[in-house]
Amino acid sequence: MTDTNPFESLQEQLDDASEYLDVREDVLERLKQPERVLELTLSVEMDDGTIETFDAYRSQFNGDRGPYKGGIRYHPGVTRDEVKALSGWMAYKTAVVDIPYGGGKGGIELDPSEYSESELERITRSFAEEIRPFIGEDKDVPAPDVNTGQREMNWIKDTYETLENTTAPGVITGKALENGGSKGRVEATGRSTMFAAREVFDYLGKDMEEATVAVQGYGNAGSIAARLLEDLGANVVAVSDSSGAIYNPEGFDTRQVKEFKRDTGSVAGYDRTTEEFGNEDLLTLDVDLLVPAALENAIDGGLAHDVQADVIVEAANGPLTPDADDVLTERGIHVVPDILANAGGVTVSYFEWVQNRQRFQWTEERVNEELESVITDAFDAMIDAYEANDLPNLRTAAYVVAVQRVVDAYEGSGSWP
Ligand code: NAD
Repeated sequence: MTDTNPFESLQEQLDDASEYLDVREDVLERLKQPERVLELTLSVEMDDGTIETFDAYRSQFNGDRGPYKGGIRYHPGVTRDEVKALSGWMAYKTAVVDIPYGGGKGGIELDPSEYSESELERITRSFAEEIRPFIGEDKDVPAPDVNTGQREMNWIKDTYETLENTTAPGVITGKALENGGSKGRVEATGRSTMFAAREVFDYLGKDMEEATVAVQGYGNAGSIAARLLEDLGANVVAVSDSSGAIYNPEGFDTRQVKEFKRDTGSVAGYDRTTEEFGNEDLLTLDVDLLVPAALENAIDGGLAHDVQADVIVEAANGPLTPDADDVLTERGIHVVPDILANAGGVTVSYFEWVQNRQRFQWTEERVNEELESVITDAFDAMIDAYEANDLPNLRTAAYVVAVQRVVDAYEGSGSWP
């Protein structure tokens, strides 16, 4: 991992796309900055009665196409600039898949493994109380991200509804089913990653049934993408998490690896045939498909020279630095960008919000079918832009589509005051 500032990466990606767009300089400047960033210090009582403080953020990047939308991350590496970058990627992600949202993101700087469940509940409810004036079904709709899930979403919904004295399940997505969640939401990010991989393999004339796959990060996004790719016939030969990486050229049973991780806390040690193998080895393994599904900046310009995968599909947000993009473009390695490949999470979040407002639950089959059509339409729009404008890579093509949609919404409604 490198210490590239993710917010600068986002701005560079927008500059790259703007070269191929007819966008006014002043409008582009506006589209490179968040509209509002809330910076908080949460003071929360611990189980032993002491008070601990936590830095927390909510960034609302762009609301031209609808309510701000984006996850909440709990991680010791959370910073203001990281949250700003993630909120920007959300704005362009919702645009590239054409769902009526803007982009937002939140985070608390903490390592959740160091806190009890009751402490995490108080931290989460304190955060929910602080952001309450700024969120709402039609204002800003948070969701899970790294180290948060249904439990935290339920706490936030409950805090909001209690303080507002109302019922508003659509104030947050990624809830448990019995609390207004959607079928298919847990799997959605891994599923869109699989659709994106399937589509790019089709486009390049590559056979998924012959493919070897390496997946960095075996959490929600990575483990589900691995399983769904295995279901398509691919051979998942290497996976990793923050405790280590494993490799077996014969391939793994991805479900068994997940069970092993559930029981032991890590994928490391799953397979006795596994040789000494580290995370960097995984990223440079000679495979057909590499799926980075951990955190930002996994591959920088230096490491990009050693990547041997034919295709990269980004399940994580921002796993490649702009330098890495340049190197991979030059080397002819295709990258399906995060804003499209992992957009399944926000797309099914959108379906959850629609169902909450309709007070009507869709079947899992319907959710998955609608998701497939959203992702394949977005993929086709990206490829059309790529070919029509002879663009250098698929990321630039996805941004060209997305930025144009945000610009059209902004210019269509005019500015006020
Ligand atoms: P998660 O916490 O469930 O999983 C993250 C995984 O990455 C864990 O297995 C962790 O051990 C591993 N990891 C962390 N550092 C690592 C390292 N240096 N090397 C290898 N593995 C490492 O989180 P998630 O929800 O799966 O999110 C992963 C990525 O996907 C993030 O970039 C997130 O923003 C993105 N994403 C998630 C969703 C979603 O709906 N969950 C949606 C869109 C994007």
